[in-house]
Amino acid sequence: MPSPTTLDFKLKQQLQAGQTTLWLNPDLGIRGSETDPSACAQMLDAEQRLQRFAPLLQQLYPELAASGGLIESPLRRIPAMGQQLLGQHAGAERLLLKCDHALPVAGSVKARGGIYEVLFFAEQLARQVGLLPDSQDSEADGRLADGYLGLAGTEAQALFGRYRIAVGSTGNLGLSIGIIAARLGFQVSVHMSRDAKLWKKNRLRDAGVEVVEHRGDYAAAVAEGRRQSDADPYGYFVDDENSEQLFYGYAVAALRLQRQLREAGIAVDRDHPLFVYIPCGVGGAPGGISYGLKGLFGDHVHCFFAEPVQAPCMLYALASGRVKPVSELGIELVTEADGLAVGCASELVAAKMKTLLSGIFTVADDELFRWLYQLHQHEKIDVEPSAAAGFGGPAWLTQSDAGRAYLQQQGLEPMMDRAHHLVWSTGGRFVPAAEQAGFIEHGRQLFADTAEQSR
Ligand SMILES: *Cc1c(COP(=O)(O)O)cnc(C)c1O
Repeated sequence: MPSPTTLDFKLKQQLQAGQTTLWLNPDLGIRGSETDPSACAQMLDAEQRLQRFAPLLQQLYPELAASGGLIESPLRRIPAMGQQLLGQHAGAERLLLKCDHALPVAGSVKARGGIYEVLFFAEQLARQVGLLPDSQDSEADGRLADGYLGLAGTEAQALFGRYRIAVGSTGNLGLSIGIIAARLGFQVSVHMSRDAKLWKKNRLRDAGVEVVEHRGDYAAAVAEGRRQSDADPYGYFVDDENSEQLFYGYAVAALRLQRQLREAGIAVDRDHPLFVYIPCGVGGAPGGISYGLKGLFGDHVHCFFAEPVQAPCMLYALASGRVKPVSELGIELVTEADGLAVGCASELVAAKMKTLLSGIFTVADDELFRWLYQLHQHEKIDVEPSAAAGFGGPAWLTQSDAGRAYLQQQGLEPMMDRAHHLVWSTGGRFVPAAEQAGFIEHGRQLFADTAEQSR
């Protein structure tokens, strides 16, 4: 690893002043940065595990019938939004949306990692006591006559009911873990940070989950959840800051996207680069997805994260060479993007992204609401504020000095009229209607004010 760098003076000033910026990763693609071959193996292993559980999930959640028990979201073209963001610039008609805001069961990108980790743990427990064969290749049969479907039965429920799964969350991770774990019969404690929305807590309580409210931020909720869980011999803590299971569960999205791109006739190769923009909190979701995409598409995919100006923790970690809290910059995590309100990045993810990530841009809350409104207005798609962060990407890349410098360095300029821009929308399905209407109205007003000023 190259020696730690110190934060560039100008960048530091921008972060402290809450100015939006695009940071380019100087370590992108340095030697030894190829995704290691085991990455694809672990992603495939996770995909196979989800396939094994698909019949059970289909039984537990009838809304998964159409997808055969897979929790997946559509890939859509959103040219009208492209027009809004880029006008006549190249790329407007090639804007794509990966619709994880519509993911069934959990309603956010956290379905991919959170639900996967609970299934992983359940499988491990069932194998240990012989309910399931002790490995996929094992000759021995498990005691459950109907295999994974039997995990919904009384014997498995009694087993799972002895354990308590705990997690610290700003909301959506708790939702995804709480919903699936309670359904399988686990006891569940979700430690919510002060950012968590009331409706998310209520939804969990309705599902029989213990919600512990903390006055501190996300890091404090995680720390307290971890402490309580570690003291419990039957406690299992889902560690959002360090979990490999979460990470590879998220990475499965890359395999699914690869198939969807192929079905849509969208090539990703030397002549057809793909730019992907994903909102980032602690880093697990965007990191896992990017890791998978780099493993599948290599240099032909360009991954960028989006962070609030009030919570640029991954930017701070990668640009300074060390994972540190953004409070050092005097930043206080005041943002409506509750899913992204994280002050300190995941060490695990920062290390994995060091040479794979192209860059990170920051967004102001007002921008989130304007994009949320525009998406509603022009595409009839509703997302939560966090999930709108990626919409800054196409303009940063094609219209800013830093973005143009990136395209030039990478030799991409001749290909830009064939490039696709993919914005990853990460949550929103279960936002109550009245709350969503408030977001849209706030965005509408901000949009009208901006139009007024630029007249
Ligand atoms: C959690 C979350 C993210 C970011 O995921 P991290 O793993 O925290 O980086 C993005 N959008 C939404 C809506 C989220 O809930």
